[in-house]
Amino acid sequence: MDRIYDVIIAGAGPAGLTAGIYAARADLKTLLIERYGAGGQILNTYEVDNYPAMPGITGAELGEKMSAHLDKFGVERVMAEITDIKFKEGENAVVTDAGTFTGKTVILATGNSPKKLGLPGEEELTGAGVSYCATCDGAFFRKRTVAVIGGGDVAVEDAIFLARGCEKVYLVHRRDELRAAKILQKALFALDNVEVMWNSIPKEIKGAEEGAVQGLVIEDVKSHESTVLDVAGVFIATGNTPNASYTDAIDKDEKGYIIADESCRTSVPGIFAAGDIRAKRLRQVSTAVADGANSVYSVQEYLI
Ligand code: NAP
Repeated sequence: MDRIYDVIIAGAGPAGLTAGIYAARADLKTLLIERYGAGGQILNTYEVDNYPAMPGITGAELGEKMSAHLDKFGVERVMAEITDIKFKEGENAVVTDAGTFTGKTVILATGNSPKKLGLPGEEELTGAGVSYCATCDGAFFRKRTVAVIGGGDVAVEDAIFLARGCEKVYLVHRRDELRAAKILQKALFALDNVEVMWNSIPKEIKGAEEGAVQGLVIEDVKSHESTVLDVAGVFIATGNTPNASYTDAIDKDEKGYIIADESCRTSVPGIFAAGDIRAKRLRQVSTAVADGANSVYSVQEYLI
């Protein structure tokens, strides 16, 4: 019986790390399963400027701080990818590529990953000029011209970040207004090496035969005219898809996010969803952290 954890936390982004801190402080026998190390999606963010008391902190630094905070409590951690979860009340088996772990409760905090567009050339050129992470790969394009696709917070942040080192940045957006926060838009429009290609949809990434990106074909949604942008890099920032393909035995919304309210309780007793994986209105570090805390409170209620 002592091999059964009170709670297994799947995912080491802000939601999972916060859940780990709360679980340890509640004296729960806890295991944290992480896929690529701690931090989650914030590792793709150059600057997190809306997490209270940490103005301007980099995503990597915030991830490290949260991870170190968790380590202070000595929570057991394992690097593994979850492939399945066999739900059984009081004895849920989390199947991973590093073995199966059993938990009385499980907090699913596996977040989401950047969405692929399925453009011709996209798959072949991923890692050869096509990227989903400007902060990871931007340095390869110093003094070059690149394109960012998308109009949300991530796309605009990426364009601002890339403009610091690149010769020129095109922001390709399908509508005539951006979805990104106004403060980001203001910073973007102040840059003279960024050009926004409004009402434009990406059609093809050229260069598959040459093995490196040679250009991005875009089409004006009104005139249907095509233009080839002469770029060496294409950064895709068009939103995310949830990382929950390891289970179908839980209620999800039409996009695949796990349905749970603020208590983080899912349709399966003893299983909780926290952070970006949960169907919710606003996906931010602060809302993920709140879920981390709420989910452990619900775990404690369930265990009692
Ligand atoms: P997002 O807000 O969903 O924006 C995705 C963007 O991509 C939208 O502009 C969308 O266009 C465009 N798009 C989607 N599918 C497309 C397609 N097939 N072709 C062309 N364009 C397409 O996603 P995100 O920017 O990745 O942000 C994800 C979440 O993280 C959001 O909730 C965001 O607020 C949050 N976030 C917050 C911060 C911050 O507060 N500092 C930083 C990063 C992320 P439309 O606008 O036309 O739909």
